[in-house]
Amino acid sequence: MHILRGGRVADVDGTREADVGIEDGEIVAVGDLGDGDSETDVSGQVVAPGLIDAHVHVSMDGRPDVSTAVAESDYTAGYRTAANLEAAVEAGVTTVRDLGARDTLALDAAESVADGTLRGPRILAAGQAVIMTGGHGHWTGREADGPHEVRKAAREQLKRGADVVKCMATGGVLTEGAVTGAPELTETELAALVDAAAPTNTPTAAHAHGEVGIKNATRAGITSIEHGTFMDAEAAELMAEKGTYWVPTASALAGIVDHGVEAGIPESAVAKAEDAADRFVEAWEHALDAGVTIAMGTDAGTPFNFFGNIPEELERMVEYGLSPEDALEAATVNGAALLGLDDVGKVAEGYQADLVVLDDDPNADATAWQEPDAVFTAGDRVA
Ligand SMILES: [Zn+2]
Repeated sequence: MHILRGGRVADVDGTREADVGIEDGEIVAVGDLGDGDSETDVSGQVVAPGLIDAHVHVSMDGRPDVSTAVAESDYTAGYRTAANLEAAVEAGVTTVRDLGARDTLALDAAESVADGTLRGPRILAAGQAVIMTGGHGHWTGREADGPHEVRKAAREQLKRGADVVKCMATGGVLTEGAVTGAPELTETELAALVDAAAPTNTPTAAHAHGEVGIKNATRAGITSIEHGTFMDAEAAELMAEKGTYWVPTASALAGIVDHGVEAGIPESAVAKAEDAADRFVEAWEHALDAGVTIAMGTDAGTPFNFFGNIPEELERMVEYGLSPEDALEAATVNGAALLGLDDVGKVAEGYQADLVVLDDDPNADATAWQEPDAVFTAGDRVA
């Protein structure tokens, strides 16, 4: 057993003094521990669970105009993915969920991390997103129309090993011509997708900005609403009632609004993001009033939204009204529950030893996640 000795432990159960014992990739003991085989001195420091980002795009690199990546080869996309994964894990992110990549790129990356070929966070992946013909993100998605086609498209992703089925319930910011909030897949189509994923308990995720699309997806039984930018009170209440998760991706909006046209982001995307920013503040108010469960996601890979900066999302969530403890919960156990993982997200016996060593208590200060001193994935020190 390897022991992280002399520090404090911080997770959703609070912050307390405890040593952490690790063996065979798992946390085997937490408390006042005797001798182990080896030790790391973490006195004066805090051991926290690695972060879970429920919404990334592993092959996208934060360039201002995402459409320019389409012309690149699959090899280039693969190398970029490797670099992104390394940046994420060095920032203390030990699990990511990819919600849309070309072909089987993210699913293959998941295998390469699992078998030790690539250094990076555990990956759960959607394969290709299911999109109406001409809808948001159609250049990398699987276009499908009508409940039968949507069901087939969802089953194709499941056949490839998808851990989650992703779809587009509204238009988006980064697709030229798509109206950000306009509904895309209908409630009937979304219900067919949910039904296709149900027998294997596979979660479903819907990209949805506009309130009509959010409600369509929520009523259809989708597991998580991604972005939810124009969420109104009715949508928030419906989500709370149905237990639908919200993955707000504040970093995606900030990446576009903070950099703008001068940085090379297409004018249409900047205009749509600026329009969305004010409504997003209200979305947070509605979600917090209604008690919607929030899981952290960044949409990393979108303009100026880099994998190495993922922990900034916790600070943004605090700016929008969460306490640092709530942000930690969103980025650990809530993310784990959304992804269907029951052994990550806490510093507790029986959990995977996905850990970060920090200088400050993240339950008191959301900036504590910046620049971890050490990162472990399944017990191996990777940064
Ligand atoms: Zn996305």
